[in-house]
Amino acid sequence: FVVFDHVQKSYDGENLVVKDLNLNIGKGEFLTMLGPSGSGKTTCLMMLAGFETATRGEIRLSGVDINHVPPHKRGIGMVFQNYALFPHMTVAENLSFPLEVRGMGKSERDAKVTRALDMVQMGKFANRRPAQMSGGQQQRIALARALVFDPELVLMDEPLGALDKQLREHMQFEIKGLHDRLGITVVYVTHDQGEALTMSDRVAVFNDGRIQQLAPPDELYERPKNSFVAQFIGENN
Ligand code: ATP
Repeated sequence: FVVFDHVQKSYDGENLVVKDLNLNIGKGEFLTMLGPSGSGKTTCLMMLAGFETATRGEIRLSGVDINHVPPHKRGIGMVFQNYALFPHMTVAENLSFPLEVRGMGKSERDAKVTRALDMVQMGKFANRRPAQMSGGQQQRIALARALVFDPELVLMDEPLGALDKQLREHMQFEIKGLHDRLGITVVYVTHDQGEALTMSDRVAVFNDGRIQQLAPPDELYERPKNSFVAQFIGENN
């Protein structure tokens, strides 16, 4: 469904931050990119989202090379750590906006907004503004906004990084539940091993611009391919 085919990325024309990346993500899969800071995870997500272009290689979505497809035409939902809700808009307006950009009429928009808010149990918050909500509530709204236009693919970059431990665990459970229920494909970036191991179908362990190992969580745990993976997976667990 998503294919990285010999993808390389350099920001300065000299140093490669992504080095010959090959990755095939199945439809409906929950794939986590896990690795230390600076290992190239976010860069991969940005290329998939369309905010960065690959220096070499090809990224395909449903068989189509998306290198020159602008971000809003890729049909991808996105959630990031700093929720980036529009502060001057209410929750309902925040969710309606991406639909308006796509040219959808008001009644259809309202129905989709209501449904997306119900998905994250935030129906009662439609008229609040971001500043009137807690971090966890704002993150749920950001999640609803990523899902409001029924994307087949959702990208999440450290979406729970700003939340405390208890809320983070609760949200992990909710995100996993939405993934299972909606059948969407999720590409999730984190440097938290526990998060990666509990949520994912497969984990791609990154270091220094390369995937060190790509495997289901139990396999990573039981049969780490090299000492980097063994050490990284073992930390804090
Ligand atoms: P983190 O968990 O800290 O976000 P990461 O694994 O996601 O790390 P990237 O953000 O992809 O790593 O960064 C990979 C490398 O590319 C780093 O060395 C970083 O400094 C560099 N880099 C990232 N974005 C840019 C940019 N816009 N311009 C120049 N260099 C960049």
